[in-house]
Amino acid sequence: MECRACPLECRADRAAGRGACGANDRFEVSNIQLHLWEEPPISGMRGSGTVFFSHCNLHCRFCQNWEISQLGRGRAITDAELESAILGLVEQGAHNVNLVSPTQYTDQLVPLLERLVPRLAVPVVWNSNAYEKLDRIQRLEGLVRVWLPDIKYQDDALARRYSSAPGYFGFASAAVSEMVRQVGANDCDDEGILRSGIIVRHLVLPGHSDDSIRILDWIAQELGTGVAISLMAQYYPAHRAAELEGMNRRLRPSEYARVRDHLEELGFETAFVQQLSSASSDYTPDFT
Ligand code: SF4
Repeated sequence: MECRACPLECRADRAAGRGACGANDRFEVSNIQLHLWEEPPISGMRGSGTVFFSHCNLHCRFCQNWEISQLGRGRAITDAELESAILGLVEQGAHNVNLVSPTQYTDQLVPLLERLVPRLAVPVVWNSNAYEKLDRIQRLEGLVRVWLPDIKYQDDALARRYSSAPGYFGFASAAVSEMVRQVGANDCDDEGILRSGIIVRHLVLPGHSDDSIRILDWIAQELGTGVAISLMAQYYPAHRAAELEGMNRRLRPSEYARVRDHLEELGFETAFVQQLSSASSDYTPDFT
């Protein structure tokens, strides 16, 4: 069957080969583990039960996980093995089930989650790049209770140049609006862990603080300042960043400060920010 699961709509026959995202019809994962370094309402004290999927429907030239996302490093895993691994993470005390880079597996994950979610005492987190189709996000309603989308660009020229993602903001804005509609205001438990809700991430890129500001303005105007924001500073030149004019450097403190100041001026009620020292391949990002 031709795959049209994501905005690329490459129509690959994934039973016979791989799509533009690199995925075939089997789940492939690079890691399954308790993970402590997401935002505090996701990781908490016990960790987030994280499944890192291989491959990606974005092709970011600066991707820090390019060996997993673009070379497809990982291993194939059956549906039963994936279900068992997820249940194992919950038994270990995971606050949630965190599906990282899941978009290329959406059509396989819907039936798996329909079987699994009634047996889970914790919410499922959809940790994605937001380059997703509205109808797929609608199919996930009631299965995913915590959305963690990363809005990467407002400017379509940037999305095309850096990630080969035509129409990125149109798809991402529709997807994220639907996510907000589904969950409404954030609901946390006594430990401050999200039971349902959304945190919208954004990574500030060198030389592109204007685009970051346009994204924050859109969120404030269209989704409201009650939406929690995670403003990331962890960019460092990775993968093929050296080939991109202006992208072969880290963020300047003034660039990140400008976006962070704008975030404060807009009056968002909840925001997580990072230190610029988080921009390193050997440093685990710290959200405050
Ligand atoms: S999910 Fe992968 S195979 Fe399916 S349309 Fe998108 S790029 Fe193509």
